[in-house]
Amino acid sequence: MIIRKSMREIELMREAGHIVALVFKELQPHCVPGVTTAELDKLAAEVIKSNGAIPTFKGYGGFPGNICISVNDTLIHGIPSKKIVLKEGDIVSLDVGATYKGYCGDACRTFPVGKVTEETKRLILTTKESFWTAVRENAKPGNRLSDISHAIQNYCEERGYTLPRDYTGHGIGRELHEDPYIPNYGEAGHGPILREGMCLAIEPMVNQGSVGTRTMADGWTVKTVDGKLCAHYENTIVITADGFEPLTVLPDEEW
Ligand code: MG
Repeated sequence: MIIRKSMREIELMREAGHIVALVFKELQPHCVPGVTTAELDKLAAEVIKSNGAIPTFKGYGGFPGNICISVNDTLIHGIPSKKIVLKEGDIVSLDVGATYKGYCGDACRTFPVGKVTEETKRLILTTKESFWTAVRENAKPGNRLSDISHAIQNYCEERGYTLPRDYTGHGIGRELHEDPYIPNYGEAGHGPILREGMCLAIEPMVNQGSVGTRTMADGWTVKTVDGKLCAHYENTIVITADGFEPLTVLPDEEW
């Protein structure tokens, strides 16, 4: 069942989303060679807690970190670690959840570490642009959910990338994961009709190489099978009367 949110609830989700966006602003300058993902995780928790929220992912299904930090060929659910040290040319995705007064915000950014290749920049940019293109064109009342999924798939595949099938976006609200699931692929014109007050976490996860992924022995870390790079971009949005509002971007953020 898809739970549409009231104006009061959306206001709280806006607050939660704002705190998530602040984490990216604070952490991006720290995504530099020599920093460990444990250090980034600690910093993220400080930003979330100092703004009156709690890190949503901490303990979720037993997840040990405050946020998920995934480097290079890790697609999602990377566990922050003192042993994972960022180095020049890496890419790092920060997947951040914050719960504020009982409501969740969820978003992800992939950042370059120092100088990266043109090919790597293109992967990061395509992942971000697939989100914005799909949402700008399709996120409005009356459209179908899979119109968004289809647009993400098209945008990425036209540029030579693949979209893993096992992980999806999701509805969000009091719970981190609510109905509906939002795949990053599929035919247009299917699934629920979008309606005002639906809150959706849309999150393209994009592979540079083949589509396959596998979960490591820690039970969390998901990597590409071929060891090639992957990127992840996500925002929580709300469907409004005539379109959408992103809840996890700052007013001065480019999009
Ligand atoms: Mg999510």
